Amino acid sequence: MKTIQLREGKERSLQRRHPWVFSGSVAKGGGDAGETVRVVGHDGGFLAWGAFSPASSIRVRAWSFDAAQRIDAAFFLQRLQRAIALRSRMGIASDGQRLVHGEADGLPGLVVDRYGDVLTLQFGSAGTERWRDTIADALLQATGLHRLYERSDASVRALEGLPERTGWLRGEGEGEGEGDTAITITEHGWQLGLDVALGHKTGYYLDQRDNRHHFARLVRQLGCRTVLNCYSYTGGFSVAALAGGAQQVTSVDSSAPALALARDNLRRNGHDDAAHAFVDADVNAYLRQCLQDSRQFDAIVLDPPKFAPTAAHAERAARAYKDINRLALKLLAPGGLLLTFSCSGGVSADLFHKIVAGAGIDAGVNAAILQRLEGAPDHPTTLEFPEGEYLKGLALLRC
Ligand code: SAH
Repeated sequence: MKTIQLREGKERSLQRRHPWVFSGSVAKGGGDAGETVRVVGHDGGFLAWGAFSPASSIRVRAWSFDAAQRIDAAFFLQRLQRAIALRSRMGIASDGQRLVHGEADGLPGLVVDRYGDVLTLQFGSAGTERWRDTIADALLQATGLHRLYERSDASVRALEGLPERTGWLRGEGEGEGEGDTAITITEHGWQLGLDVALGHKTGYYLDQRDNRHHFARLVRQLGCRTVLNCYSYTGGFSVAALAGGAQQVTSVDSSAPALALARDNLRRNGHDDAAHAFVDADVNAYLRQCLQDSRQFDAIVLDPPKFAPTAAHAERAARAYKDINRLALKLLAPGGLLLTFSCSGGVSADLFHKIVAGAGIDAGVNAAILQRLEGAPDHPTTLEFPEGEYLKGLALLRC
């Protein structure tokens, strides 16, 4: 077993069970990509077992802080079972669930989503890549499912020196059609279609599940009739708006395939085509157009893509967030509702609040915070790993 020794004073992070060792903290030692290494402090004392990643600035990701732990097939099975058991206690109202959320589940770099009877996984670190087959087999054992689709095409793979890879890993051809990747899940009683091969991420934005539900409730409570869903993707918030009693919903996205799925999803839930419009456009340009046309909406959702992947991008992202929020606040009818989000890890909840506050001042609009929003519980943030927190939002009521 190879040993990685840390520089003096760099032990604290692992001692606090934070799973990352940055390259600058390593005094000596190395290994192959994904190889299990023993990490010790400056004094030679054991700190963690981890996976070495020669290409990444996160040089080691810890598997375990227990000196007696063996990193083997039984270890992965046990971690997967623990993650799945946690979800089963969360009362998740959907058969679309994130079963494994990387570091938060003690499996750094691994993402597993379940959509009905199909599992998707993403190996986002050299360590998970090395144990790919072991993890796949353990996952089938832990879930009792057979079909497993790999979506290792996230940009983080490049940082780990890993190529993109997608396709069936287990159970190809066992679906309804040969190699069928289109699936329908039931979220809060709504039927939602997605495609695990063609969709964003692993097919769907599971992290917004509870916020879609809140939105349906608020639309009903406030009697919102006209709704603008910006960055709609496959129309999750649009389905929610109509379920909440909205009369006219407009979904805006720059992805034509996502809008096509959104149309299917609204039909699937029995909504009349006349109740919604789909706009293939850049949201910023569309909001400006609406303002020019003096349009107003009773409720608006802003759920943009990640403008700031890391804190280094925060400043430019802040301007982009402020701009769309300013426009949206201006388009809100008096008493209207804005649900606004940021999924940028580099923008904290506190900073996001400040950005939206600035947008309100520029728009000349005052609003009350009805609710602070976050990601669904199956994307947990743990005590030891606050970096895991990424999705934050505000439900605002125009005064
Ligand atoms: N709210 C959605 C998820 C949104 S993800 C849900 O609940 O499922 C972000 C979406 O923004 C993606 O669908 C992407 O296609 C879209 N997008 C990214 N940049 C855009 C832009 N400039 N204008 C319009 N849509 C954009």
